[in-house]
Amino acid sequence: MKYLSTRGLATPKSFTEILLGGLAPDGGLYLPEEYPQVTRKELDDWRTLSYADLAFAVMSKFAPDIPAADLKAITDKTYTAEVYCNARTDSDTRQIAPLRTLEPGLHILELSNGPTLAFKDMAMQLLGNLFEYALDQQHDALNILGATSGDTGSAAEYAMRGKRGIRVFMLSPRGKMSAFQTAQMYSLQDPNIFNIAVRGVFDDAQDLVKAVSNDLAYKAQYKIGTVNSINWGRISAQVVYYFKGYFAATQSNDEQVAFSVPSGNFGNICAGHIARRMGLPIAQLILATNENDVLDEFFRTGVYRPRGTAQTFQTSSPSMDISKASNFERFIFDLVGRDSVKLRAFWGQVEAGGAFDIKGTPYWDALPGFGFVSGKSTHADRLATIRSTWEKYGMMIDTHTADGLKVGIEQRRPGLPLICLETALPAKFEETIREALGREPERPAGMLGIENMPQQCVVMDANVEALKAYIVANTPR
Ligand SMILES: *Cc1c(COP(=O)(O)O)cnc(C)c1O
Repeated sequence: MKYLSTRGLATPKSFTEILLGGLAPDGGLYLPEEYPQVTRKELDDWRTLSYADLAFAVMSKFAPDIPAADLKAITDKTYTAEVYCNARTDSDTRQIAPLRTLEPGLHILELSNGPTLAFKDMAMQLLGNLFEYALDQQHDALNILGATSGDTGSAAEYAMRGKRGIRVFMLSPRGKMSAFQTAQMYSLQDPNIFNIAVRGVFDDAQDLVKAVSNDLAYKAQYKIGTVNSINWGRISAQVVYYFKGYFAATQSNDEQVAFSVPSGNFGNICAGHIARRMGLPIAQLILATNENDVLDEFFRTGVYRPRGTAQTFQTSSPSMDISKASNFERFIFDLVGRDSVKLRAFWGQVEAGGAFDIKGTPYWDALPGFGFVSGKSTHADRLATIRSTWEKYGMMIDTHTADGLKVGIEQRRPGLPLICLETALPAKFEETIREALGREPERPAGMLGIENMPQQCVVMDANVEALKAYIVANTPR
């Protein structure tokens, strides 16, 4: 299987060839030439698989160029109870990504029981092992450079710590993350993890990463890579839990379901779209945004109008405070019938600071066929949903999952089982939980007092040369 770029101007490549890279050379995003199909027989066989075996079955379809025995060893090593079953003490502790039924037909798929208490661990841990494998094969090394305001950076560091051939340089805005998030990242003592606290805000850190990546000679010499949300390895690994959730919520493969997904960069729900295109019986993909509702606006009106930083609100579901969804291009590519010329025209408008509008085009008429509906949730909605879920079902959910649950219940088609994806645990957002419930969220035993552990990071001005010099000084020749 080959991967092609949404912009249509790049040479098709294999899974392992695109794994370590980011954007295609033409500025587009990679997608399989054709989505692999899952037969009815395969669906029946997959229904009873363990998570690790299901991950192997799904990933085999996306990465046929990795020898089966190697891929099996990687998925077995990644999806273990030690990594994924420690966080929630009230969960089914034997299962990876257990389904919690709130009432008949209403479920939460627990994806946040991994090391950093957010769903990003589901894919990132696999990516760490895939990267190590690919670099071993190529006798190569990689410097992963990223900027984070919280969840992505910690998930990347916990996935890459101690991995051969990989160093992580993670920039974060100094003093702008919660004490818990800061402690999670800065308490790591592994010699291949470098935390860099930038004097500035998140965008300053992000700009530094872009500046380094745009210096192509430096990037090649120091083997700079990324693990951001456009990485295909992450998207493909996220497809797996849609299958897992479907099997857990249904009795047979004749049933249809709805998934509700708290969304920001459109990575998580893009994986749901792909699972549906592979043949998983998903009737509805319900996209939930917070006050930053650029994606909800598109699905309601046909207008995609990314916003600037100044119009991006800081909310109590901060991992969805995104006004330009980096994976959205993948979906639009499918919506326009994989017409790269059309896609380039739309993104030309977006990159010039504008918008595009599909209302009145055949694409608007085609949209319902993709199963998407959307809605938005505000701070008051989050508080109310956290409260009602606690009172009615005795389950404490985080602010992002609350956005998904609120919009899911609002938009679900009657009679369809609804599976809400849990994207983080409440322990990560203590302040809002206190506001909603007047009590503290439970913390996993391993994370009690994490704020008091020794921390290490270097503090740096938002200066590209200083960052480059730091990477050079810490890259062995
Ligand atoms: C990353 C993240 C999201 C958004 O996921 P996307 O793939 O960017 O749409 C939602 N909730 C939490 C807690 C996250 O960390």
